[in-house]
Amino acid sequence: MPPESLRCKECRTTYPLEARYVCERCFGPLEVAYAERTNADPAELRRRIQAGPHSLWRYTDFLPVQAPPRGVLPAGWTPLLKADRLAEQLGLREVWIKNDAANPTHSFKDRVVSVAMARARELGFETVACASTGNLANAVAAHAAAAGLDSYVFIPSNLEEQKVLATGVYGGNLVKVNGNYDDVNRLCTELAGEHEWAFVNINMRPYYSEGSKTLAFETAEQLGFELPDRVVAPIASGSLFTKIARGFEEWLEIGLLQGELPIFHGAQATGCSPVATAYQAGQDFCRPVKPDTIAKSLAIGNPADGPYALDLARRTHGSIEAVTDDEIREGIKLLARTTGIFTETAGGVTVAVLAKLAARGEINPEDRVVAYITGEGLKTLDVARGTFEAWEIEPTLQSFEQAAERVVAVA
Ligand SMILES: *Cc1c(COP(=O)(O)O)cnc(C)c1O
Ligand SMILES: [Zn+2]
Repeated sequence: MPPESLRCKECRTTYPLEARYVCERCFGPLEVAYAERTNADPAELRRRIQAGPHSLWRYTDFLPVQAPPRGVLPAGWTPLLKADRLAEQLGLREVWIKNDAANPTHSFKDRVVSVAMARARELGFETVACASTGNLANAVAAHAAAAGLDSYVFIPSNLEEQKVLATGVYGGNLVKVNGNYDDVNRLCTELAGEHEWAFVNINMRPYYSEGSKTLAFETAEQLGFELPDRVVAPIASGSLFTKIARGFEEWLEIGLLQGELPIFHGAQATGCSPVATAYQAGQDFCRPVKPDTIAKSLAIGNPADGPYALDLARRTHGSIEAVTDDEIREGIKLLARTTGIFTETAGGVTVAVLAKLAARGEINPEDRVVAYITGEGLKTLDVARGTFEAWEIEPTLQSFEQAAERVVAVA
């Protein structure tokens, strides 16, 4: 299924596979179009995949690159864990956690950056850049270091300190912008017109977004080439959410999977929920908002793929829900205490939405549900502060026994 062209999602005009992202005719977004795979043998495809490396490059046949890049940080092939204790708490039968915190820079952004950067190198770029809500900054800085490319990473100045430190450590140019993500993105769009840089999520966006399909491929392969019934995934720009569906659809079309597209539930934070708000209001476009939430990695007030995310939730009879900062903290705790996985605030959003849907009886208890955990808790440590109390004792037996008595008395 070789990549054939870039194609406008709105008017279908095609363009060569270059660093471009908007249609010159209608200003619609461009995406990668593939040559139709005639008489592909699913069994043969499956064998090719299974013989591939334990990284997202086992799916190179379905990605917009000519060949997997060599000598780079391998991303993907993260664990899919059956979360029985979580399922029991939620009154569900089968819940799986796709733990994408287990990537080289601890978020799903390693996938999209891998693909965008591989294509950027094929196109001859020597400098990569991005506008980031945090995790993308980590991933671009790290993958640029691994490939020996120059990097420019632009972040809003109010990001979590852990994410800033975990980016700066790789070297590269780190630029803090006094403004929110949408301001950073606007600035980078202007810069992309001035410099010969590959902005992974701007002029390389059609390639970048294809990386998220690998989350669907892996999930299906790890389930034994079967589909889940339902998916819960976070929405920032809506790219991840819609491309998971695209991945399942591609494998359905070529016969690698049987059945129907799963039901898709999108998850946002109330403090930045333009897509959930449009969903509830029955609208098919999003009104931009000013973000104010602890889920900073999802804080995009003007989501580029909002309309496509709305369409996906509606046509699969799913939904898009929003949860408060307190519910996000509860979601993080629930996941940690039932699975041993400590996720960042975005994962808290996803788990809190899953819990809310289950409590409302909106999930058939027999369904096989996959929840996408997209980032690592150590990057948003502050939210754990004040949620528990440690014992403080002297290094003596007596002191320990006294503390134990106090704790028992209180409990
Ligand atoms: C970027 C990000 C997302 C989703 O991003 P989209 O723009 O919707 O593709 C989800 N979770 C985390 C942790 C992220 O960093
Ligand atoms: Zn167009």
